[in-house]
Amino acid sequence: MTETVSFDSLGLAPELLKALTESGYTTPTPIQSQAIPVALAGGDLMAGAQTGTGKTAAFALPLLQKLLPLANNGASPAKHPIRALILTPTRELAIQVEESVKAYAKNTPLRSLVVYGGVDIKTQTPHLKSGVEILVATPGRLLDHIEQKTLQLNQVQMLVLDEADRMLDMGFMPDLKRILALLPKQRQTLMFSATFSNEIKKLADEFLTKPQLIEVARSNATNDNVTQKVYQVAQSDKEALLTQLLKAADAKQVIVFTKTKITASRLSRSLEREGIAADAIHGDKTQQERIKALDAFKAGTCTVLVATDVAARGLDISELPMVINYEIPSAPEDYVHRIGRTGRAGALGVAISFVSPEEDKYMVEIEKLIKRQITKEVIELERTSPRSRTSSHKPSHAAPSQEAATTKRILPKKKSTDPWFDKPYEAAISQKESTARPTSKSKTPVAALLGGLLRK
Ligand code: AMP
Repeated sequence: MTETVSFDSLGLAPELLKALTESGYTTPTPIQSQAIPVALAGGDLMAGAQTGTGKTAAFALPLLQKLLPLANNGASPAKHPIRALILTPTRELAIQVEESVKAYAKNTPLRSLVVYGGVDIKTQTPHLKSGVEILVATPGRLLDHIEQKTLQLNQVQMLVLDEADRMLDMGFMPDLKRILALLPKQRQTLMFSATFSNEIKKLADEFLTKPQLIEVARSNATNDNVTQKVYQVAQSDKEALLTQLLKAADAKQVIVFTKTKITASRLSRSLEREGIAADAIHGDKTQQERIKALDAFKAGTCTVLVATDVAARGLDISELPMVINYEIPSAPEDYVHRIGRTGRAGALGVAISFVSPEEDKYMVEIEKLIKRQITKEVIELERTSPRSRTSSHKPSHAAPSQEAATTKRILPKKKSTDPWFDKPYEAAISQKESTARPTSKSKTPVAALLGGLLRK
């Protein structure tokens, strides 16, 4: 039903359509095609969608469109009161949302700003004083500004509560109540939440007026469909481990996440040298290059896509059999976004994280966020691998390193536990269930990614 919808047909203003084209968007995502008309019509909205579905544009575009008649180039701050307030639980999300708002508003005179805690409040005040129509904020810092009288909310006509469930989880309910009490009663409220718990419904009852309910399919990062694994490995051994795992599992369609563009490029080149069809997607690649890589990945001709978090957000892929965190993100939310790309209703997914000792601290934060502990495993590196860094790898007879002490050896897979693993990303290409083809260097048992058997 939503496939035939175009941004044009949603009735968006030319300035916004131009920005969308410039951002490389061609068709609205399901949440966009459903939420935009409701929001443009002026109704309240309660939408079930998580990051990665295009939800930011789903609220930002109607918001901008509705503010367009009030947009002006006036120099006076009074000409730019805060008319739309977007609340987010974390500063990372706030930054990301404001970047999107800016990108969509680039051909309009509408101004936006983001304010969040953890930085000197004084640096934010002058920007606020010069006037902005759209303010993205975390609740605590917004209240700081309210207390310091550095902003006024009496002209807010649109409110967005982004990731409302996480705001509740993080204990922001009292802050939200205080903020909402300061907003004009006559306003439009759009609430986005990954889950519709009873608490969320209560929040909606309290703050929304006859909201329309919209829900799009989503994969739950922490659901049981996703098997999460952690492999402890020295940073210098990660490349060798990745190559081994990919070869041993005869893996298809894996996204490998790195923290930096440089690592993404370097890693994809080195996988290619190992005979693994790989490509990198990151911020320095052109839109054409990204589309090409993505098409090849979907078609199954490219097995491994190495991506940075930012680049991966723009990818229309959310139902993968496997993701590998080559490097652990410092923001725990990014971990959830990454692994949310695997697993889907009725199918299984695997998310593997390579954790070096320096990254243990990030894993601690991640486990706190997802409220579960992941068993740490150590994989024995295949020492004969041509690209394994034998110089930095301690042979097993040497004084055991901290990692080697608890090594589990895992055999290559025999058969997948679920045929989904052996299917390429798109149903168009059907692939017979793969039998683990022996790789030339597989004499030494190496880790199997899926369905591997533990050997004591
Ligand atoms: P969000 O769920 O809002 O965080 O968006 C996820 C990613 O999808 C962001 O990188 C957006 O730039 C991108 N995106 C949003 N809408 C579209 C679209 N209609 N076409 C292509 N990319 C999009």
